[in-house]
Amino acid sequence: MSMNSDKPVHAAQTSFTVADNCLQVGNVSLTRLALRVGGTPFYAYDREVISAKIHTLRSVLPAQLALHYSIKANPMPAVVQHLAGLVDGLDVASAGEMQLALDTLTPSERISFAGPGKTDAELQQAVAAGVVLNLESVNELRRLQRISGELGYVPKIVLRVNPDFELKSSGLKMGGGAKQFGIDAELVPEVLAELANMDMEFLGFHIYAGSQNLNPEAIIEAHAKSSAMAIRLADIARQEVRTLNLGGGFGIPYFPGDIPLDIAPIADHLHRCLERVKLALPKATVALELGRYLVGEAGIYVTRVIDKKMSRGKCYLITDGGLHHHLAASGNFGQVLRKNYPVAVGDKMQTMSDELVSVVGPLCTPLDLLADQMPLAHAEVGDLIVVFQSGAYGYSASPMAFLSHPSAREVLV
Ligand SMILES: *Cc1c(COP(=O)(O)O)cnc(C)c1O
Repeated sequence: MSMNSDKPVHAAQTSFTVADNCLQVGNVSLTRLALRVGGTPFYAYDREVISAKIHTLRSVLPAQLALHYSIKANPMPAVVQHLAGLVDGLDVASAGEMQLALDTLTPSERISFAGPGKTDAELQQAVAAGVVLNLESVNELRRLQRISGELGYVPKIVLRVNPDFELKSSGLKMGGGAKQFGIDAELVPEVLAELANMDMEFLGFHIYAGSQNLNPEAIIEAHAKSSAMAIRLADIARQEVRTLNLGGGFGIPYFPGDIPLDIAPIADHLHRCLERVKLALPKATVALELGRYLVGEAGIYVTRVIDKKMSRGKCYLITDGGLHHHLAASGNFGQVLRKNYPVAVGDKMQTMSDELVSVVGPLCTPLDLLADQMPLAHAEVGDLIVVFQSGAYGYSASPMAFLSHPSAREVLV
């Protein structure tokens, strides 16, 4: 694509093509797609972009490595169905996500259910469904024993381990130190001893160090330390380890200066890592669970300009969508310093970006900001504003009810 602008094209915008000045999603022009969807605002996901991402990833990863999709990144049913045909397993973190996973052709033993605070009802549903339960505490293990005993089914379990190290340079740390996730590594030997007297099918370990990491060395270190820890812990287990989930945390670039994750060194290391695991744990299948990396770049959020105004020298584009649909792009989903997501005028993609504007939503709060003083193509009322990198933690991670505006729509193209 060509952008007649001296601004460098953001890496994110290369996932989509442009024709006649208009962004294309799956060979449909954005203006036509808006008509097809029936109105703005909406999220659009491109199935070919998702497929291509997985194809590229698989071409470098060891063939024996299992790839799982973490549904919480994007739980749209059509997206989950599409991914189910491309990955080896689905990871869920609620009974609702479990139902979405069970609606696909994925066999129940390839669905794993993690998350702290699973209720008795959720444990019961999971046991009945035959999905794998990733246990996060000793109490949860004991509750599961009681529940599965009453039901008369043997549950399949994996122990989620809170590692004794942290993933460096991770956007969100989810392991190491004191955490609500997983069983502290040093307690696992006791738990394995208790487990030996329970009627459960122990499958192995799950270690998830963190999310949104763009640093290959840090991910390699986490894979090395996690697999070494699992091999040590497996020595104590009575049952043979058949599952080793090494987590994921692969990030995508959002902001100027973010460098796309270099997968090659991670894949190289995984080839060697899997050989070591194969020697120590010959029956184990090693898995990665990825959410954002698989779907994040395949999605855009589209909102229409409703009003344009100047206020004391600053130009505002006021749109029909905002923070309530896309909390992360507004900078209020875990960001410390607000930065602009990649944003463009979707029906003026080849027009010079020569107007400095702020894109805001309709909510009565200054937090409702999609772009802060960003150079964009000259936009008018009716134009379509696109937020890229919106395929993960967009729709389902936003406070849709805040201020009682209509929900966003979603479409997989
Ligand atoms: C959220 C989550 C993931 C997915 O994280 P991404 O950053 O979207 O890849 C994977 N595993 C667990 C346990 C999670 O909680």
